[in-house]
Amino acid sequence: MKPKIWLSSPHMCGKEQEFISDAFDSNWIAPLGPNVSGFEKDLELYLSEGSHVAALSSGTAAIHLSLILLDVKSGDEVICQSFTFSASANPIVYQGATPIFIDSERESWNLCPEQLEIAIKDRISKGKKPKAIIAVHLYGMPYNVKKISKIAEIYNIPIVEDSAEALGSSVNCQNCGTFGEISILSFNGNKIITTSGGGALVSKNKDIKDKAIFLATQARDTDVSYLHSSIGYNYRMSNVVAGIGRGQMTVLDKFVAKRRANFEYYKKNLESINSLEFLNEPSNSNSNRWLSCVLTPNIETREALRLLLEKENIETRPLWKPMHQQPIFKKAPSYINGVSDDLFERGLCLPSGSNLSENELDKIISIIKSYF
Ligand SMILES: *Cc1c(COP(=O)(O)O)cnc(C)c1O
Repeated sequence: MKPKIWLSSPHMCGKEQEFISDAFDSNWIAPLGPNVSGFEKDLELYLSEGSHVAALSSGTAAIHLSLILLDVKSGDEVICQSFTFSASANPIVYQGATPIFIDSERESWNLCPEQLEIAIKDRISKGKKPKAIIAVHLYGMPYNVKKISKIAEIYNIPIVEDSAEALGSSVNCQNCGTFGEISILSFNGNKIITTSGGGALVSKNKDIKDKAIFLATQARDTDVSYLHSSIGYNYRMSNVVAGIGRGQMTVLDKFVAKRRANFEYYKKNLESINSLEFLNEPSNSNSNRWLSCVLTPNIETREALRLLLEKENIETRPLWKPMHQQPIFKKAPSYINGVSDDLFERGLCLPSGSNLSENELDKIISIIKSYF
């Protein structure tokens, strides 16, 4: 068997274990402690813009708490980008609300401003104003922040910024993760940095952070008598895994640079193949290039290429299957323009880890070239 080349595998720098050792030495083996607050500080400094960060057990938990904090309840409607991973949308259903799916634009592959406005007007005319908009920076490419924020402002609907794949991306030099009313990050195993599993909720409002931590730690009104006046969750990040996060923060900039270099390398070596397309950054946008993606001419080519690489033990993956195509969301209203259906059929995510060697990249490139 040839050595496996992964799509995006964890990449430890060595420092992680020192922070984990601190947790063991001080016996802070709990969902709180110095690594948790240290990791939150690191993220707050990195994101800047006056961000307040609550470290949580996952990005999904962060989206769930965001919706609770925005008062999303049973019977409400929440707008969500259709072209995303299902974790963006599932928490809407946890709240008993209905997701309204919106298609993508070509420029960023994210939320289409025109479809978004059509949907908002239509929902309002049907008698329900959406409670929130979940906008995603898919594959690290920022959505059109200027247009989407403008629409959200006009209709006065808060944005939950799903920045799970976009730590280290920016628009006009402002970091992704600072554009939403509430923003979320993920540190799952294959994300740009990982804590093995974990996430964070980000807000410029300290009150939102405090409320998120309150809800994430079982909503205990007082420490002594265990008084509860709201339903709580067990969503806090553990002090052990936060140690991994602190180590990873020391190399985040390096990882982003490497992932961007992966993309540039693929593009430089493959752009002579006329039937392959790459997604360029819209002006003022800076992508962390979490995953390098290519568009092939059609689904047959995409599958043939995927299987050819798989035979060489190289992991690739189709782009996310849009939510409006998913059996679980069949009944959800959706506003579709064909873009995400097309991207899903033709697109392939190539190995993109910050630990990929040039040899591995060359091997992948030569197999793709041999196909064409
Ligand atoms: C990974 C991911 C999530 C969920 O994050 P977890 O930490 O895995 O729960 C949400 N949205 C998007 C777009 C993601 O890629």
